[in-house]
Amino acid sequence: MDVLNILFPRRCPICKCVVRPDFLAAGETNHLPQGIGMEKLICPHCYNQVPFLKGPFCVKCGKPIDSEQDEFCHDCEGRKRDFIRGVSLMDYSKHYADRLMWDVKYNNKKEYADFLALELARRYARSIENWGCQVIVPVPVHASRRRKRGYNQAELIADRLGCLLDMKVDAGALIRTRKTAPQKTLDAAGRLENLKSAFAAGKTASNYDNVLLLDDIYTTGATMQVCTKALMGAGVRKVYVMTCAIGYN
Ligand SMILES: [Zn+2]
Ligand SMILES: [Zn+2]
Repeated sequence: MDVLNILFPRRCPICKCVVRPDFLAAGETNHLPQGIGMEKLICPHCYNQVPFLKGPFCVKCGKPIDSEQDEFCHDCEGRKRDFIRGVSLMDYSKHYADRLMWDVKYNNKKEYADFLALELARRYARSIENWGCQVIVPVPVHASRRRKRGYNQAELIADRLGCLLDMKVDAGALIRTRKTAPQKTLDAAGRLENLKSAFAAGKTASNYDNVLLLDDIYTTGATMQVCTKALMGAGVRKVYVMTCAIGYN
């Protein structure tokens, strides 16, 4: 064990117990790219309680659906989606997921971002490679919000995922041009209206053909749709979307 691990042991993000670095069995990491590892970022007890999403999934946005017979979730059915497809990790409506995401967003728990990025990498490294994404672009928060909080949680997770997968991360490819009212109080149509013109492509967006758009939470997909449109307006042809948790309206 590394000396730093003994002096500053990693704590489980959920129960705060000291985490030993040997949790993942060798077999579980076989499919990972080199360098993504054996390290254990959460204790086995809590790991088993994380509400990881279970299929079948909507083929468009990655939300769980009730029946294998359906292709799309209720939200994707009559709605325009310019992104090619989306995947996520946890059910935001369940305990643990809500707490983890809240802590990453508001309590500066950056080590939780390590856990989320590692789980995203474990599940989707191969998909990202197959999709041919050239860059990870985090969904931006408004500059004033970023200043207040000191960081953007989506960028934090994107940076860690980029390290694990050896992929470029470009936080400048999308910019937040306007602050929006809290989305929670609005219905789907209101959300889209609220979001339109809140995002614009940054200077570097036109460098890419195929982008992996990353955000912390996916609910109606309105944010992802608006960001996808902004990127495509700058010449990006394909956008895939990835989030850490999926919520329900
Ligand atoms: Zn724990
Ligand atoms: Zn869907």
